[in-house]
Amino acid sequence: MSQHSCLDNYIVLHKLGKGALSKVKAVRDPANGFTYAAKILKFPCEALSSRFREIVQNEMQSLKRLNHPNIISIFNANENGVYTKKNGDTYKCMYMIMELCPNGELFDILFQSGRFDERTSRFYFHQLIDGLEACHRAGVAHRDLKPENILFDENFNLKLTDFGFAFSDTGNNRSSCLQTNLKAENYMAPEILARQPYNGFSVDLFAAGIILFIMLSQNPPFNKATLTEPYYRLLSNKEERFWQLHSRNKPQNYYSAEFKSLITDMLAFNHSQRLTIEQIKAHPWYQGPVASTQEVG
Ligand code: ADP
Ligand code: MG
Repeated sequence: MSQHSCLDNYIVLHKLGKGALSKVKAVRDPANGFTYAAKILKFPCEALSSRFREIVQNEMQSLKRLNHPNIISIFNANENGVYTKKNGDTYKCMYMIMELCPNGELFDILFQSGRFDERTSRFYFHQLIDGLEACHRAGVAHRDLKPENILFDENFNLKLTDFGFAFSDTGNNRSSCLQTNLKAENYMAPEILARQPYNGFSVDLFAAGIILFIMLSQNPPFNKATLTEPYYRLLSNKEERFWQLHSRNKPQNYYSAEFKSLITDMLAFNHSQRLTIEQIKAHPWYQGPVASTQEVG
């Protein structure tokens, strides 16, 4: 337990994670005894500071607009000023206090359990779609949807987090449309990889389709070697070869016809042919049986 120089009165308990720009720690507020997650960003005072501030403010503004059980809640934020490192460099620090997700990231759970069956995949996928639906209804596209940004609270409620690159239709970040993160390329829609202008709402649903595929198959549908137009089109053109390639070491007829149909239509190469949220929810695979919280916990 310690006091972090920039975290005002919050007491640091332990480390939770690390992102490209941030460190996240579990903290306690001595005023009420509750524990939270503090996302801490340190940035050089001069260089980069405006871009950092833009990302943090974008995240805060998006989260303040969203109030849903499948989206992380934000409680407090502050910017604290100038610290000097041992080498003499100065930096500033911003932090956000958010609800704590002690069950970690989606793929930690997936890799611990081996793979999810259809009922368990549905349990997580329904919550993912509910969270995305709430974002999209509020005019917010997440645009950085990947397993590291999908967390679970103590009751295995799914929480979408990390809205630093989100697009809000009333926000001032319209110009930063092509912000991409190379680490997340497995989740990117083909139009992003082709560096074409894209629709943030459609690419969120594409990423959700990739995540669903990984939950059931344990492998990404497209990997570094196959992130190419012909390979994307294998799936879109309903060529059985796509499924054969993903059936190695799997029992016969591993993927149900409903699952194949949902994945094919969520990951359509042409974004205008992809399913909408309403169509996903009406799909026969989506409507199948769902694991209970007790079963997944
Ligand atoms: P970045 O924008 O730098 O990627 P994130 O918001 O994604 O930062 O947080 C980085 C990592 O910290 C996450 O991938 C997750 O492992 C952990 N983390 C973030 N928020 C929480 C939280 N509320 N509860 C638990 N762990 C968290
Ligand atoms: Mg992240």
